[in-house]
Amino acid sequence: MRLKTILNRIDPLEGFVFDEMRLLGRPGDLRIEIDVRPRERCKPVCSGCGVRAGCYDTLPTRRLQYVPLWGIAVFFLYAMRRVCCRSCGIKVETVPFVEGKKHVCRTFERFLAAWAKTLSWKQTATLFRTNWRTVFRAVQSAVTWGRAHLVVGDVGVIGVDELSCGRGQKYLTVVYQLDAGARRLLWVGRDRTKATISGFFDWLGPTASSGIRAVCSDLWKPFLTVVAKRASAAVHVLDPFHIAMKLSEATDKVRREEVHRLRAKGQEPILKDSRWCLLRRPKNRTKKDKIKLQDLLQYNLRSVRCMLLRWQFDAFWKYRSATWAGRFLDDWCRTVNRSRIEPLKKVVRTLQSHRGYLLAWIRLKAAGGIPTGAVEGFNNKARVMTRRAYGFRSREIMEVALYHALGKLPEPFVTHRFW
Ligand SMILES: [Zn+2]
Repeated sequence: MRLKTILNRIDPLEGFVFDEMRLLGRPGDLRIEIDVRPRERCKPVCSGCGVRAGCYDTLPTRRLQYVPLWGIAVFFLYAMRRVCCRSCGIKVETVPFVEGKKHVCRTFERFLAAWAKTLSWKQTATLFRTNWRTVFRAVQSAVTWGRAHLVVGDVGVIGVDELSCGRGQKYLTVVYQLDAGARRLLWVGRDRTKATISGFFDWLGPTASSGIRAVCSDLWKPFLTVVAKRASAAVHVLDPFHIAMKLSEATDKVRREEVHRLRAKGQEPILKDSRWCLLRRPKNRTKKDKIKLQDLLQYNLRSVRCMLLRWQFDAFWKYRSATWAGRFLDDWCRTVNRSRIEPLKKVVRTLQSHRGYLLAWIRLKAAGGIPTGAVEGFNNKARVMTRRAYGFRSREIMEVALYHALGKLPEPFVTHRFW
């Protein structure tokens, strides 16, 4: 069996034929070159209007990288023709196996984009004998195609979050769809202004916007006003994830203050290395954390009291009835207010002023509308992306990476899956 037979089976090129094939180079740096030529009497297609026209001339041969075979780099060698089109004049032809002036075949781009979901872009590039930029362009093409062919359908529950990217105050606003069976990243916008979130509703369109039942986000004023205007049927709910962040911040602040106070008194540094044992969820505590906590419990520390109160609050999210949840909330707030822990009392004030949004979350969950930890799950994944994708300084690259990893975008039909 020849290579040509396999290629014709897995990736046939309409209007073109595979010609000579050569194995070149030395062991360790081998490459396969495959000549591609147009089928006889098959006229080139004008890139301007997509109509077949007469051949004008032929451009120099181009090397187009293809999917490697057994770790050997593969190249198609093809000389583009120019057409003499009636409506467009002299134009370069358009061919099915490569896009525009790229040096990479479409099939190889899809192959790279598919691997870039599992591996980092850098790893993908090294493994398949290409460079980072090529992988980025491949992913970008996949995202552009996917976004253009995306069918949004009905959107019931959305979650809005923000991601800081790179140094400086640069933000991306991300919108997730949280409906059961369709959990995905829906949209990414730059900054976090009223205009940003209006951009999302513009993209979604008025019909789908009016179908949104619930919006899950943090306490962000400009956002609340836009939602009220553009998705008037939606209930606004406060996400557990954002409350947990506020509680963690408060716990950490109490700990830091206490460290300073103890140091000023000249007491031994009891709280040294205690950050994570105080902040980690009880179920995630390591053995070391538990030993440290046992140690801390001997002292009457404000940090420990704060931590206990903070984890006590988690019970709130488990309620099924908004009435009982409301009672729990009020009780908890009273306890905290008596505790004289100022940073936590500040959180209490926020919770009390948004009591309605918190209870709305309980009602929505009881109606089966929202999964606990959905926004948190997405946020974690997105952060892993930002960390893994070093060199993602530009927001454009970041957007592409996020859509690719979390967007569940449709993919074009392929005759053969190489991955
Ligand atoms: Zn034309």
